Amino acid sequence: MAKVAFIGLGNMGGPMAINLVKAGHDVIAFDLSAAALAQVAAEGAKVANSAKEAVAGADYVISMLPAGKHVLALYLGEQGIAGAISKQALVIDCSTIDADSARKVGTGLAEQGIAFIDAPVSGGVGGAKAGTLTFIIGGAAADFVNAKTVLADMGKNLFHAGVIGAGQVAKICNNMLLSILMAGTSEALQMGVNNGLDPKILSDIMLKSSGRNWTLELYNPCPGVMPNVPSSNEYQGGFMVDLMTKDLGLALEAANQSSSSTPLGELAHSLYVQHQQAGNGKLDFSSIFKMFEK
Ligand code: NAD
Repeated sequence: MAKVAFIGLGNMGGPMAINLVKAGHDVIAFDLSAAALAQVAAEGAKVANSAKEAVAGADYVISMLPAGKHVLALYLGEQGIAGAISKQALVIDCSTIDADSARKVGTGLAEQGIAFIDAPVSGGVGGAKAGTLTFIIGGAAADFVNAKTVLADMGKNLFHAGVIGAGQVAKICNNMLLSILMAGTSEALQMGVNNGLDPKILSDIMLKSSGRNWTLELYNPCPGVMPNVPSSNEYQGGFMVDLMTKDLGLALEAANQSSSSTPLGELAHSLYVQHQQAGNGKLDFSSIFKMFEK
């Protein structure tokens, strides 16, 4: 079992760290929030007084932070913990951040002889709690293999997307497509309803026809069509509009940097920003369905 420093014990990081404790790893946690630390301490994690203290002697350093600026500050900026990390350690950043920041952290740590991979996740808070996350990894093949020692205790699917930064790019490609599918499915369902169709019957028809997609199969956005999804629970739980909007912003940044044409991604971003500004940021992203209501 490994000694793991875990930094960022929020909605995602907290349950992920707890799964590592349950798997028998020696977890030393640090977060700026005392409440977040108390939750993981109650489940058996040790608590450090600073990020530097947490990483001392760790085999793996895992971070799960809000955005690129936090990850840069932690490893290379004002918190500057790189000097305290063992040269034998593997640093795994699981946050969803811009690929450029991931590459900068990778280069900065490599200059100090420390290995780094970006490993953003798909699966949300439910997946983090259940230990069924998908990890999408960018980095050297040997580091990908090494990371399995800890990632397999927090997730079910581990993908090697390519070099450092590739994990972030693959994740935002997926989420951009998901947002387009969700908006398109919502639009089609509402048009059917406006023309007198039952949304459940229309969903069944499209599921067996060429409009079939993940949102219809597993995450229908129309309330009452499917049990146990956010749309049938007033859009509570699931993946927040705030986070989808953040990921679409990252996708457009990557599109600009690579001169990629993403008109549908831009439209989805604009729809989600409008929806967020109308006060729906904390609702599940399938609530975009409401935007197409008459
Ligand atoms: P969160 O806001 O709940 O948690 C972030 C934690 O980081 C907080 O506890 C905060 O105190 C801590 N933190 C911030 N700066 C710090 C620092 N410098 N040192 C130590 N701790 C610090 O966010 P979350 O929902 O857990 O998301 C974390 C990351 O995972 C984000 O990048 C997000 O985009 C991504 N993500 C979230 C979900 C989801 O459904 N919540 C799904 C997939 C990916």
